[in-house]
Amino acid sequence: MRTPCDVLLTHAHVLTMDDRWTVHAPGSVAVAGGTIVAVGDIDAEYAPVEAIDCGGRVVMPGLVNAHTHAAMTLLRGLADDLRLDVWLMGYMMPVERAFVRPEFVALGTKLACAEMIRSGTTCFADMYYFENMAAEAAAAAGMRALCGQTVLKFPAPDAASFEDSLSRAREFIARWKGHRLIAPAIAPHAPYTCTEEILRACAELAREYDVPLHTHLAETTFEVEQSRREHGMPVIPWVKKQHLFDARVLAAHCVHVDEGEMRALKEAGAGVAHNPTSNLKLGSGVAPVAKMLELGLAVGIGTDGPASNNDLDMFEEMRLAALLAKGVNGDPTTLPAREALAMATRNGARAVHLGDLTGSLEPGKRADLIVIDLDQIHNMPRFERDPGGVYSQIVYAGKSTDVLDVMCDGRWLMRDRKLLTLDEGDLHAAAGDVARRIDLFLIEREQSVLQKLIAIGGATEGESFEVQVKARLVSADDVRRGLESDLITVIRAVHYHQFDTYFFFDDPNQGRLRYREDEFLDEQENVVGARARLTLTGPAREAAFGSVLLFRSRFFAPATHSPRFYREYFKPAREGEVEKDRHRWLVAFRGVQFYVHLDRMLSPRAGAHFLEVKSRTWSRRDAQDKAAVIVELLELLGARPDEAIEEGYVEL
Ligand SMILES: [Zn+2]
Repeated sequence: MRTPCDVLLTHAHVLTMDDRWTVHAPGSVAVAGGTIVAVGDIDAEYAPVEAIDCGGRVVMPGLVNAHTHAAMTLLRGLADDLRLDVWLMGYMMPVERAFVRPEFVALGTKLACAEMIRSGTTCFADMYYFENMAAEAAAAAGMRALCGQTVLKFPAPDAASFEDSLSRAREFIARWKGHRLIAPAIAPHAPYTCTEEILRACAELAREYDVPLHTHLAETTFEVEQSRREHGMPVIPWVKKQHLFDARVLAAHCVHVDEGEMRALKEAGAGVAHNPTSNLKLGSGVAPVAKMLELGLAVGIGTDGPASNNDLDMFEEMRLAALLAKGVNGDPTTLPAREALAMATRNGARAVHLGDLTGSLEPGKRADLIVIDLDQIHNMPRFERDPGGVYSQIVYAGKSTDVLDVMCDGRWLMRDRKLLTLDEGDLHAAAGDVARRIDLFLIEREQSVLQKLIAIGGATEGESFEVQVKARLVSADDVRRGLESDLITVIRAVHYHQFDTYFFFDDPNQGRLRYREDEFLDEQENVVGARARLTLTGPAREAAFGSVLLFRSRFFAPATHSPRFYREYFKPAREGEVEKDRHRWLVAFRGVQFYVHLDRMLSPRAGAHFLEVKSRTWSRRDAQDKAAVIVELLELLGARPDEAIEEGYVEL
């Protein structure tokens, strides 16, 4: 009496990828109710509804992409060859804020699912916004996914605040918990985009619902150095201190971790997603995966988002993982093909905390499997001597296009390279429409320095105007004496050391961007505080108030990045640097408040003194009135206006 089953795959070269590396060649796999019921020499025992003769082709577990941002297929190729912060803060996040809506995530995830199914992936660990839509798209496409709802300290496309994103995550988890294909997770983006409070709250929520926590850890040296500077310790111990490891963590990257940190990850039961292409492309480095594997850590392989890879091809990824490990260790025996394939299957499933469901072909696990044709011209001939040869055939010569059939949870998603759950033609057209809209948005933005400043969250104070006049001084003492005049009331006096970097653009209408670092000095010239800010100064609107007074528009923004970031983001045509010692007085004169700046140049023109007097203004009329007063004030301070002095006293 044969046991009924849904599908019986026969005459296959079955790679179970179980703990004992069991291979059945030939062998069969029986599937019933979405689950694998038997593997091996079982043909006589089962009566299938659908029997498939595999003709000696490889049947193995579907690949597990341990870390991605699936919907970012729609941002693929948008901005490449940039540093991580410029890429992320300058391009990805602003475009995401403008475009990422529920429909965007639905479409982008469908596109990703089509690509993943075509390349033999049946399970992926995702992290994005509107993750409900990602989960729906994955489930409709029939794929298994660990879906992480992103939580950030910044306003995100789907949440105005961290509290909003946390409650969104809670609803998301409650909705999907227990789903057959979708495992919900919470995804605090990274330690540097979250606060201590956010990390703790996320870990707590993950524990409350017993779901994994998906995050990025120790991706760049910059991140690690910043953690050391701000918290006095590297990333892993710091997040441990925030109780992150109370949750079941999936940590993407872990490029810059030492052995102690790897042990801490292991002890915490955390999984690691190794993303070799993304780490290379963004210049982040190479994760010490050989050491991680030696310590017994669960390490999977991920593509990362298609905006930083730029594809979702796990065949490329596992080959690169194997080759890189050999290259950086100077040892070709490091990370053999079989181990790399295990990282893309069994170990990847463990890393994403779905190891009890998928990752190997064993009775009781879900029927997530692929059929591969290894008899293509690029993979011939086939040797029988070494039974392990099949692993190197797949890893070193196999291509994603060799995948013929894909089954997930017992359902066929692709047969003979034809997708069964998604329409590629529709996806192609819809993705093209999105690309055209994003192109227009960026073309417009890239033409304006101000628009670019606004895009990175700058220019929060809006536009303001000022009248100003500058003078070259023979003696600074005249100014100090002048300030003692009965006609002038000194309201406030400050002393600081200023470092300015000026960015100039070819089009003068763009204005000038200044990155300024101020060090506040006390009376003994000790540094008592510091701040950095950006000012975008528009071209002089009027020069008609006398011959020298300018009426300019200015936008201020806090400078939260380094000058290097702004240089790479704004791409100025020229730069100038100025260092000076500044005494600044806020004074009242003839009923008007003015700022008086007495500057001693340190570089360039060391030793030269300049005087600058300025006042905020609101209208042309007001500027005109103040222009008359400002000349009078300047004379009282012993100086005459000098129109030849340029902004920042830089020779242009
Ligand atoms: Zn990522």
